[in-house]
Amino acid sequence: MDIALYEAGVSHLEGKANILKLSSNENPLGAPEPAREAFLRAARDLHRYPSTDHAALRAAIGEVWSLDPRRIICGVGSDEIITFLCQAYAGPGEEVIHTEHGFSMYRISALAVGATPVEVPERERTTDVDAILSACTDRTRLVFLANPNNPTGTMIGEGELRRLAEGLPPQAILVLDGAYAEYVEGYDAGAALIAGRDNVVMTRTFSKIYGLGGLRVGWGYGPQAIIDVLNRIRGPFNLSTAALLAAEAAVRDRAWVARCRSENARWRDWLARTLAEMGVPSDVSTANFILARFADPPEANACDEHLRSEGIIVRRVAGYKLPHCLRITVGDEASCRRVAHAIGQFKGLR
Ligand SMILES: *Cc1c(COP(=O)(O)O)cnc(C)c1O
Repeated sequence: MDIALYEAGVSHLEGKANILKLSSNENPLGAPEPAREAFLRAARDLHRYPSTDHAALRAAIGEVWSLDPRRIICGVGSDEIITFLCQAYAGPGEEVIHTEHGFSMYRISALAVGATPVEVPERERTTDVDAILSACTDRTRLVFLANPNNPTGTMIGEGELRRLAEGLPPQAILVLDGAYAEYVEGYDAGAALIAGRDNVVMTRTFSKIYGLGGLRVGWGYGPQAIIDVLNRIRGPFNLSTAALLAAEAAVRDRAWVARCRSENARWRDWLARTLAEMGVPSDVSTANFILARFADPPEANACDEHLRSEGIIVRRVAGYKLPHCLRITVGDEASCRRVAHAIGQFKGLR
């Protein structure tokens, strides 16, 4: 009962129609068409058990990202991979590091296995590698780092990631959470780092750029020895046939991903610039949301109230130690214009 309940993005408002939900970093363009078709095809065989080894999905991921399929594990969202890592590698008396404004599932999963979560400060809402390294002890088992990070949207470069991996104590594993990696052109999410080392794992998801958050599919990639361990605690039928087939179709649709990435970048930059001109700055985001900063927590809360009165839902992030900020998912053009207009109204009203 000491674990704080995970708070999901709100999805409806009492008595409001035409709701605009910008609170869960969902893809405004939805899922790619081939994924929807694959999902419908799966309805024919609902009586059959799914694949236990996920071979077809792993082969597709391996092909698209040039990775060894034997070193890929698929899970019920990347959340499940995070859970497996904690179950396998951390326990009572052991420490799991996460950053100050890091994703809340790291702390929850660490506590669930009886381990001790250790929060490390960031520098101006950005990962501080030196702070992480100095927080390491001989009890550190896992270091979770989302890059790009949620909810800050910032990321660190490959040199810093390498310095972190090289500086960890020998018993610790670095977990690079790449939930937003596809939004960063040319970023390999840590694949090259993993290739040359035995202490780095990456987690990835179909919930963000692939638009399949409702299906729950994620995956991990890492050293064979770690993947072999995780597969021993994975339920044999953790992913449904519909989820496997839809994810396979989605990952093969590279044109869709390229289009979503460029649309996101275009409207993210427009939204950030427009809000900054209204006196609401944000750090340069590398993901599909921006972290809008207000003067103080009361102003952020008042703006959120105004947005709700207009039927717009964004994410309060006080639970991430950012009480003066609101996280706003980058929607399509109309959504970005609507939320910017409402924030302009709010600033004008004050
Ligand atoms: C959204 C998100 C995920 C994805 O979780 P799934 O379980 O794959 O839906 C993972 N990590 C971070 C930091 C996220 O923001």
